Amino acid sequence: MDRPTPPVTRFAPSPNGRLHLGHGLSAIVAHDLAKVSGGRFLLRIEDIDGPRSRPELADEFRRDLEWLGLEWEEVPAQSTRLASYAAAAEALKAQGLLYPCTCTRKEIEEASAVEGSDGLIYPGTCKHRAPNSDRPATWRLNSEKALAAIGPLVWEDAIAGPQPVDLAALGDVVLVRKDLPASYHLAVTLDDAADGVTLVTRGADLFAASHVHRTLQALLGLPAPRWHHHPLLLGPDGEKLAKRRGSPALAERREGGEDGRMLAAQLRVQLLSLGT
Ligand code: GLU
Repeated sequence: MDRPTPPVTRFAPSPNGRLHLGHGLSAIVAHDLAKVSGGRFLLRIEDIDGPRSRPELADEFRRDLEWLGLEWEEVPAQSTRLASYAAAAEALKAQGLLYPCTCTRKEIEEASAVEGSDGLIYPGTCKHRAPNSDRPATWRLNSEKALAAIGPLVWEDAIAGPQPVDLAALGDVVLVRKDLPASYHLAVTLDDAADGVTLVTRGADLFAASHVHRTLQALLGLPAPRWHHHPLLLGPDGEKLAKRRGSPALAERREGGEDGRMLAAQLRVQLLSLGT
């Protein structure tokens, strides 16, 4: 019998804040799932977050990963790939699947939008009107048209099993930002395909995004990877770990002399207790 092809995984941090334990766990999951079967583990710096992006953090991230004992191949950062994002956005616009949106945040809040899994669901205001040409526009995915174009489709999560595509949790997401030819959803989908990622690993907080990404893959004729959404590390308050809630940065622990490989071993044990 043929052996399954070893997976290609990636860790894709955004340099707009230091890495904390949750990121460390994510990186370890991606690393171990690749390495355990002779696959490749990639690092991609997702540095298109405009003024929030702090390029100097990329070096800190590399030192953190090395300290945890991980080995990776680095692929080009997102800021070098803007032309491919623009081309894909044009292809989606040409299919009539995107619409311009000039709503402000305040207008969206006032239009009695529904709370989704990632903030307010856009109420579709601009879908039914001519955009205000005095204002810069974002471009949103018309989720009804997208679903009609792809037909019934299922994606596969290694932990949660088969998932029929459902765009309700995120609604008409932004695919092209005002200041950039892509949003997170478009950029990450294109990059994972370009980098040959076959197993997308990330925290369960991004589960709903995979419905959008599977949709984009189908619309753009990209290969479908498998997904592995791992449970999140929670703080003592039951909240997701994040720097703003006082979880120390990996770099602080590293600079404080802690043994990174030991910490990685502890995270692997914690992962077992989280049930993956
Ligand atoms: N840059 C994204 C983040 O840091 C990556 C998420 C993903 O793995 O898709 O949240």
